[in-house]
Amino acid sequence: MTTVAAYAAPAAKAPLERTTIERREVGEFDVLIDVKYAGICHSDIHQAREGWGRAMFPMVPGHEIAGVVSEVGAGVTKYAVGDRVGVGCMVDSCRECGNCKDGLEQYCERRPTWTYNSVGKDGEPTHGGYSQKIVVDENYVVRIPDGLALDVAAPLLCAGITTYSPLKYWNAGPGKKVAVVGFGGLGHMGVKIAHALGAEVTVLSQSLRKRDDGLRLGADHYYATSDPKTFEDLRDTFDIILNTVSAPLDFTAFLSLLRTGGAMVNVGLPEEPIQIPLSSVFGNRRSLTSSNIGGIAETQEMLDFCAEHGLGAEIELIDADRINEAYERVLASDVRYRFVIDAATI
Ligand code: NAP
Ligand code: ZN
Ligand code: ZN
Repeated sequence: MTTVAAYAAPAAKAPLERTTIERREVGEFDVLIDVKYAGICHSDIHQAREGWGRAMFPMVPGHEIAGVVSEVGAGVTKYAVGDRVGVGCMVDSCRECGNCKDGLEQYCERRPTWTYNSVGKDGEPTHGGYSQKIVVDENYVVRIPDGLALDVAAPLLCAGITTYSPLKYWNAGPGKKVAVVGFGGLGHMGVKIAHALGAEVTVLSQSLRKRDDGLRLGADHYYATSDPKTFEDLRDTFDIILNTVSAPLDFTAFLSLLRTGGAMVNVGLPEEPIQIPLSSVFGNRRSLTSSNIGGIAETQEMLDFCAEHGLGAEIELIDADRINEAYERVLASDVRYRFVIDAATI
C-alpha cells in the first residue's frame, strides 16, 4: 500500500478536506498514474451530498483524471512509464457479460466498478481523482493524444464521452439539427462535439448570458428557455435534444421541440423523479431516452476525435483548497465551463 494525499468528503454534505488515502500495490496488470489534473463534474457534487441516495464516506470524488504513468505491473502491455493517460468513470467491470464483450462496459450486467463511491473486486472502496496518484488496471485506462494538453483533456474523460457517445449513437451529423440543453460542463462539450460532427447546433440555456461563448464554441443558434417565445419559435424542430441539465425540467415543453421521430436524450441526472404525460411523445413518435458515459474503446475514439478536431474543454484551473467554493459555483450555474483541480496543489 502507498499513502497518498487526497481531498475527501468525510460525510454527506460535509465540506471536502485534505487527507490521505491508501492506494493498492501495483498489480500485474496495473498502472500507477501520477494525477496531474482532475475535473470537477456535477456528478461529484450529487454523490458527495448524497443527492442520488446512500453513498460511501469518506469519499474522494473525481472521474475526469489526466496524468502520467509512473510505474507499470509486470504483465502490462499497453502503457509504459511516461505515457500520458486518462481515467474516467469506471475502473473495472466483469469483462465477461455481453455488454462488456461489446465494449459497453458502462452497462456491465454485473455493474461496473466506478472510479469512486464503489467497491472494487478486492472488496475495498474505490477513491477517485482528487488525489495525487491512482492505481488502475490497464484495460480501464485510455491514452491522451499528444495534441491535447492534459488540463483541457481531463474533462473529456466524463463530459466529453458522455456527450460524444449519444451524439454518435443518435447520428448527429450533417443535415441533423441538435439542441443542447444547459450550457455547463457537459453542455459546452456537447456543443463543440456536435458542431465538429457537422450538425446544426442550438443551445437552449436559461438565459442569454453565455450566448457569445456558445456561438464562439460552435453553436449556430442560442436561445433562452426563460423566454416562452423560444418554445413557440422552435416547435417541431430538432432531430436530437441532448439534455445536460442537473435539475428537473418541463419535459412536455422540451419534447414539443422534437420533430417527428426525434429523440430527447437525457444525460443530466436530477435528484428528483420526474412525471411526464405520455401524450407529449405520443403524437409524433418521439423518444424520451437516456445515455450513460461510454465504453472504454469509445472513450479512446472520442479522445482521438477531439485531438483531431482540436477540441479541449474550456477550463478554470483551481488549487485544491478551492474545491468547496467551486462546488458552490457549479450549483449556481456559475462555471465557465469546467473547474479543473491542479493536482500539484493537493
Ligand atoms: P453543470 O456544469 O452544472 O451544467 C449543468 C447546466 O444545466 C448548468 O450550467 C445550467 O446551464 C443548467 N441548469 C442548472 N440548473 C438548472 C435548472 N434548475 N434549470 C434549468 N437549467 C439548469 O453540470 P455537468 O457537470 O455538466 O452535469 C450535468 C448533469 O449531467 C448532472 O446531473 C450530472 O450528474 C450529469 N452527468 C451525467 C453523466 C452521464 O453519463 N449520463 C455524466 C456526467 C454528468 P445554463 O446556465 O446554460 O442554463
Ligand atoms: Zn462526470
Ligand atoms: Zn460485464
